[in-house]
Amino acid sequence: MQKVLITGAAGFLGSHLCDKFIANGFHVIGMDNLITGDLKNIEHLFPLKQFEFHHHDVTKFVHVPGNLDYILHFASPASPIDYLKIPIQTLKVGSLGTHNLLGLAKEKNARILIASTSEIYGDPLVHPQSEDYFGNVNSIGPRGVYDEAKRFMEAMTMAYHRFHGLETRIVRIFNTYGPRMRLNDGRVIPAFIGQALRGEDLTVFGDGLQTRSFCYIDDQVDGIYKLLMSDCIDPINIGNPDEITIKDFAEEILKLTGVDQKIIYKPLPIDDPMQRQPDITRAKSILGWEPKVDRTLGMKLTMDYFKALTKDELFKAEHKDFSTYTRR
Ligand code: UDP
Repeated sequence: MQKVLITGAAGFLGSHLCDKFIANGFHVIGMDNLITGDLKNIEHLFPLKQFEFHHHDVTKFVHVPGNLDYILHFASPASPIDYLKIPIQTLKVGSLGTHNLLGLAKEKNARILIASTSEIYGDPLVHPQSEDYFGNVNSIGPRGVYDEAKRFMEAMTMAYHRFHGLETRIVRIFNTYGPRMRLNDGRVIPAFIGQALRGEDLTVFGDGLQTRSFCYIDDQVDGIYKLLMSDCIDPINIGNPDEITIKDFAEEILKLTGVDQKIIYKPLPIDDPMQRQPDITRAKSILGWEPKVDRTLGMKLTMDYFKALTKDELFKAEHKDFSTYTRR
């Protein structure tokens, strides 16, 4: 049985990856320090003998006994609110954490895939974003702690590939959504859904004309799996090119939930990218991958998950307005 280490296993993406590798017959070692992750996301895996969980912070030396075939490094705060609240940890997990895991991969002769992000393109001047665009990032802005950690992560990974001949893969993940997102992580989809379900108005930041392109979790996990199993060393964008303005998206959610709340406008956080859409030509041609779940179906599945939460969970996670947090 092949063995895979997944860091950030209790998070949104990490937990779905654990499910995917278990379903595909792997022995999965999940690792998480539980700062932003939640054991609830993987508690269904604990009874399985093919699954083990290590409560560990990957910025400290990482030890895993025995052989290891693959490593997926997904530990990181991943929402603007999280990395504003814990900026130093965000920098450390992308830099020191990545270094530790690359060292472990070298020691075990394992293939390693690291989770990069569309944020490495910053507030992009090229649209849609293809992998050969170098980005427009403000290194000293509030998002710099995430963007630069991820850029360092890519550089370090390529250095291990070139210098040590390590088998490396780099996925650039664009906005992804689905069940198990944290209701109060500040990201737009759980924020809007939470507000709609609690009977609050939906907070659109700025004029709402900024765009995003949302990818359903099952498509994302499928793309990551295909990339890991491919021969592609170069970074690959995985995301859904179906682009929408945040204002139109808020209206879509109001329609979907059938509530009669309003949209209210709040200041745009600093360095909030104006547009984002993945160019997935490379993923299509190299991996034979493209997203299959459209937003209507994806949002229905996501909504069903959030509707099943208890009232307590829903109200405890009240959306905090952090928009002013990030103004100069
Ligand atoms: N956003 C919003 N209202 C909210 C939360 C987010 O209008 O309550 C906007 C945010 O300013 C950004 C977009 O939605 O333009 C996506 O934000 P998110 O935090 O989900 O991720 P990002 O793509 O910015 O990393």
